[in-house]
Amino acid sequence: MRFSGKTVLITGAATGIGRAAALAFAAEGAAVAIGDVDPRAAETVDLIVRGGARAQLIPTDVSDGDQVRALVAQCVETFGRLDCAFNNAGILPDTARLHEVERSDFERVMAIDVGGVFHAMQAEIRHMLGHGGGAIVNTASVAGVIADPGMSAYVAAKHAVVGLTKAAAIEYARDNIRVNAIAPGLVATPMTRRWLDDPAFREAFFAASPIGRAAEPEEIVGTVLHLCSDAASFTNGQIAVLDGGQTAH
Ligand code: NAD
Repeated sequence: MRFSGKTVLITGAATGIGRAAALAFAAEGAAVAIGDVDPRAAETVDLIVRGGARAQLIPTDVSDGDQVRALVAQCVETFGRLDCAFNNAGILPDTARLHEVERSDFERVMAIDVGGVFHAMQAEIRHMLGHGGGAIVNTASVAGVIADPGMSAYVAAKHAVVGLTKAAAIEYARDNIRVNAIAPGLVATPMTRRWLDDPAFREAFFAASPIGRAAEPEEIVGTVLHLCSDAASFTNGQIAVLDGGQTAH
């Protein structure tokens, strides 16, 4: 029960990694505030509440700074505090070589994947500065550390998340605010279903992957909880690459 008495804010917890994180935080005692555009986030809240913990869905589009500020305010209003944040909401545009990327796709992924993390960190840090600090984890990707073909907008967005993470980490360390990121490899979630349902993709990716498979969301969230916990009190500005060895080549 590492998070007993604490409140965690999670963006993008309707499905996938965010839902698994929400359930894991709640299982360790946290009250969980969820910001998401997808109404299925209410199912995540139901699962938590049925398990005996506290949770609230605050409908939020993370690309809208006003909505994100309202999300943080509502979280504090409901639960009385904000100790940790997992800024995880994101989208993955269709694969295309750079010269064929639709401008609207580029702008949308930057608005959600980068803008969402920027707005969230601003609002969270403003609160944490006045309340003794906190811990923030952002969701980057292996695409924030290396490039993959056909994903230029997403690669740019996730490299920006890495940059924002490092920048915030050095600015707020003395305010007792730690900021880290996770960089998952391929995880089996709704985001990647179209790839994992494609036998040719599976065969090629699994053959190239040292571990030979995709991760389940539950294999990712242990690191998120660790980074938010007191056991990680000296870990700041780090990018935890969780990829089964993909980038060790
Ligand atoms: P997912 O599609 O299951 O989850 C994405 C979540 O973000 C959903 O709950 C969705 O509703 C929410 N979301 C999307 N746009 C939003 C918006 N504008 N405002 C608020 N919420 C919004 O996919 P996932 O794989 O769990 O993705 C979670 C994060 O992990 C994303 O940032 C993604 O880029 C990143 N990631 C995923 C993988 C992977 O292989 N699945 C790998 C590396 C990084």
